Amino acid sequence: MKITKVEPIWLRTKTFDESCEWGEDAFILRIYTDNNLYGIGESDSAAAVLKIMFEQPSTHGSCRNLSEILIGQDPRNIKKIMDDLIEGSAYYGLSGALICALSAINIALYDLLGKIYGVSVATILGGKRKDFLNAYATFIPSKNMEENISRVKYLKEEGFKLLKFGGAGFGNNALADKEIIKNIRGAVGDDIKLSIDLVGLWKNFSYARERFLEIEEYNLEWIEEPVGANNFYDYARLSEHLPCKITGGESFYTLNEFENFIKKSKVSIVQPDITRCGGFDTMLEIEKISLKYGCDLVPHGFSTGILLAATVQFLASTKYCNLIEYSQSTSVLFTHLVKNLIPCKDGIVEVNDAVGIGVILDENLIEKYRINIKI
Ligand code: MG
Repeated sequence: MKITKVEPIWLRTKTFDESCEWGEDAFILRIYTDNNLYGIGESDSAAAVLKIMFEQPSTHGSCRNLSEILIGQDPRNIKKIMDDLIEGSAYYGLSGALICALSAINIALYDLLGKIYGVSVATILGGKRKDFLNAYATFIPSKNMEENISRVKYLKEEGFKLLKFGGAGFGNNALADKEIIKNIRGAVGDDIKLSIDLVGLWKNFSYARERFLEIEEYNLEWIEEPVGANNFYDYARLSEHLPCKITGGESFYTLNEFENFIKKSKVSIVQPDITRCGGFDTMLEIEKISLKYGCDLVPHGFSTGILLAATVQFLASTKYCNLIEYSQSTSVLFTHLVKNLIPCKDGIVEVNDAVGIGVILDENLIEKYRINIKI
């Protein structure tokens, strides 16, 4: 059995002149074999940058085109393939965007392996341990307060018990941010948990502490990425001094980075993104590290239904992790790219009996939004 073709796909719902919001562009990957199967992967990263890694001409043994490394390999040899990829991309990799590209490959190879043997990825990872996952809803707050209020009321009616919001500049304006939190808390009452995501905009320990005290009365469940990802000691001081969970980790890539972050930042929850941290293999290792340091693991996930399905398979295989992020993006790349998008009902995601990660893609949508630029 051999890999015969690699198809990196850049999707974008906006024109080049318009900026994208989270979820409005995507990088997906298909790896084909000589027995007419293909695996599907994704990375939530800079799609154009990733695509070029699969199409550039190779220069030498440490700077190779990723497709070239994959083609001709037996797709079942995942560990060997991942090692070959790391070795062949050392001059532009080892962390960052390269690991994002490898994440898409890793997910696609596990999907393929599941299809070859007719089992779910959770089975390959050691066994499906649960049938249901608790889900929390994530949305980007609107500048229009009425929209925020009706959205959270709707989400409460839908059965979500935990809501998270952030992005689009939330964290930049203390007064406006407080108004949003106050109105949302007022709209959902005290029986719904609320979390906020600052995307690093609370600068440092002192600034973040000051902002926290202004909103402490709204009883937040967690504060996500209050400061820049690398500010480990600000994280540690916040974790030690604030009576609220501090979380982060979506911007790290390698196992070493995760271990360093978990150890030094003292976060309550680490949030690796399976499409950026190296895929299934690294997620399993991060789970072990999180257990070692007494930290919970709640994966980050705000992109397409491919990411969602891969995250479900990972979580289903874990012993303790049972909370999944469920995007409220209205982008067609979330709502329609995967024709059998995993639903969320009453705040619960069912772990389906998938083969591989179990996604079926909408080919018409891919052709509509595919960006075809060749170097
Ligand atoms: Mg976040």
